[in-house]
Amino acid sequence: MKDLIGYRHTLHRIPELAFEEFKTQRYLLAELKIFPLIAIHCADRTGIVVEYQQGSGPFTLFRADMDALPVTESTGCSFVSTHPGLMHACGHDMHMAILLGLIKRITTARLPGNFLFVFQPAEESKGGASYLLASHILDAYDIDAVYGLHVSGSLPVGTVGSRPGPFFAATREVDIHFSGIAAHMAYSQRGINALAAATWFYQEWRRIAQNYSSQEVICDFGRMQAGTVRNVLADSATLEGTIRTFDPDIQKEICHLLEHAAEETNQKYHTTSAISYPLDYQMVNNDPAIFNRFLTTIQNSPWHFSHAQQVMTGEDFGFFTNRWPGLLFWLGADDGSHHDLHTPDFLPADDALAVGVDIFYRIAQEVSR
Ligand SMILES: [Zn+2]
Ligand SMILES: [Zn+2]
Repeated sequence: MKDLIGYRHTLHRIPELAFEEFKTQRYLLAELKIFPLIAIHCADRTGIVVEYQQGSGPFTLFRADMDALPVTESTGCSFVSTHPGLMHACGHDMHMAILLGLIKRITTARLPGNFLFVFQPAEESKGGASYLLASHILDAYDIDAVYGLHVSGSLPVGTVGSRPGPFFAATREVDIHFSGIAAHMAYSQRGINALAAATWFYQEWRRIAQNYSSQEVICDFGRMQAGTVRNVLADSATLEGTIRTFDPDIQKEICHLLEHAAEETNQKYHTTSAISYPLDYQMVNNDPAIFNRFLTTIQNSPWHFSHAQQVMTGEDFGFFTNRWPGLLFWLGADDGSHHDLHTPDFLPADDALAVGVDIFYRIAQEVSR
């Protein structure tokens, strides 16, 4: 337990953004060197894949994400971030500490079995999992199940939550760019107003989106950028938004509607437009058979199970569950302070570390052969 807290506090002090997890990687490599029976491979940019082969049959994979967020920490804890403006506000410090703890426990017990432990960079908005998989580093292994966990600020320590089937939504980023012609406000008839087009499009889109309000889909825009100066008609305007759904057909339909609405806008304002989808996160889909086994594991443990709802947030663990059967679960980490993920006060409880290691270890024991 002392080691686990040490790992976590050290990692919490050195939060780094997506694909910049250099100090984090160095720290993990230094700790990993101490363990016997493992082969350590550096993966795509700042990732690490740890291989443990002491059995026959396929590998079981455990994954932890590594990156932090551009949030200024206000927890006031004794192991507060030493990187100004950055914070482990999504609890990935916990995930990495749990994975280190699991490796320590499995190597100490010399558990018969084949395991992969993946430290994956850039979960937050960069889709690091997709790059790691595309790097082919895992292609050499026969993998039959993948596991991940995420700390929860709303479940108490000692409780875990999950569900079979679709769990975290498929998330698609969308950018819509309108182009017009700049002109001084005094001669505005010579220009084409991209700002007017983009705001009309947004209002129109809000009206269209209302038809989908009863369904499990979100498509909205959180950012708009237009023009250069106050007295010149904007020659460009860009809207940045997100599409979230559990149904690939609805996602397709939404994209089609967006394209149609942009075309209508162009006809009205004489603009031209371009739509792009910079990033796609696949949906996290829990395998029903693995979920049932997990439920039995928890029922035979001191821990509690709570049935989880689907969430509209994205998780790039979806890239793993899209390729292999797998499971993601919430690890309760609330000690009564009830803070949400991504907020400057979010401080999951140290006590949840041992619970996370114990559950992963139980899963490893069950599959060991
Ligand atoms: Zn997050
Ligand atoms: Zn996270």
